[in-house]
Amino acid sequence: MAFSETVKHEIMVKSARHCCVCHRSKGLNIEVHHITPKGQGGDDSADNAIALCFDHHADAGHYFAGHPKGSKLSPAELKKHKESWFSLVSQHKIENPKIASVEISIMNKDYPGFFSPVFIRETTIYTDRNSMRKMFEFMGKNPDSYVEEFKARFPQNDIYGKHKMSKIKTYDDLMEYFNGDMEKEDREKPNTDPQPHKFELSPFMREYKVINKSNCVLYLKLTNGDKDVLEDYKLYLNFENVIEADSVTKRSKFFDDYKYSYNVFFPENNRGEFIPARPVLVQNDSVTLDAICFRPDPKAKFVNLNWELFARGVFGSGTIRINIKSSFEQHIRERHVEPSEIKPKFIRILPKWNFE
Ligand SMILES: [Zn+2]
Repeated sequence: MAFSETVKHEIMVKSARHCCVCHRSKGLNIEVHHITPKGQGGDDSADNAIALCFDHHADAGHYFAGHPKGSKLSPAELKKHKESWFSLVSQHKIENPKIASVEISIMNKDYPGFFSPVFIRETTIYTDRNSMRKMFEFMGKNPDSYVEEFKARFPQNDIYGKHKMSKIKTYDDLMEYFNGDMEKEDREKPNTDPQPHKFELSPFMREYKVINKSNCVLYLKLTNGDKDVLEDYKLYLNFENVIEADSVTKRSKFFDDYKYSYNVFFPENNRGEFIPARPVLVQNDSVTLDAICFRPDPKAKFVNLNWELFARGVFGSGTIRINIKSSFEQHIRERHVEPSEIKPKFIRILPKWNFE
């Protein structure tokens, strides 16, 4: 467990987002730290929490009484720093950030209150690869002759090129072909790009768009409901229960015009930063965030979008709960293996990657 949002918020406000040790105002570069480490019995209460800059967070991070150098910040020292700094702040010597009254709303057209991504549930069935061989032998036929028979009967199976088909010489080759091992290297790699829009060029050089249904596209609006103007504001987004999230228009394969049109930057899979082009948002004004694409965890019933807003003298945070109703398409995959390799029926959930 970590500190609750309430505890973090309390500490951030009481310290006015300054480091309790060096008293520097570090803005975003402040962390709430355990005074007594968890490993030494410290809890997640506000009593055991202190705001530290990254430098002092590192200095306090690995304290233990038996440390050979003994120069780390001890829990007792940290407590004193915290008490004296909180008292300075409470005497109004330091200005507390105000709580922003901003609203973040989902702007998707025809949004039914949930997203319904589609995933592929792949079931692998293992069968004895020699069963067909035994059948042929029982019928008095040479199993390898079935290979030629198969090739003659199903020339349309040669979708991966003639050379693949010509590679099939023996019964075992055919089993590998059935298993999909032969064409594996030629097949398109599963798409791990969370973005739903994939730009491709048709033979007629026209752009077209294809959608990956395991992705959800979110349109957000940030509204300033405050009587104050938000200056130098930044919005930080953190998605929970997602495999990945990204800006829709971030990358484009062929058109550089699209390349930098996004305004939410995702430095990590689930963490985005919205830094507006115009750093001022007046009262009752709103700004639209870039379309965000996220792929939920297939098991997730909801995705939490935690947001934090920082502006000059103002701080705000909240969570938007996005309901998820996933559905699954069944794909059955058969693998012809030696009896020793036979495993129980194995189900694997894949994100949908074949585009429509
Ligand atoms: Zn510091």
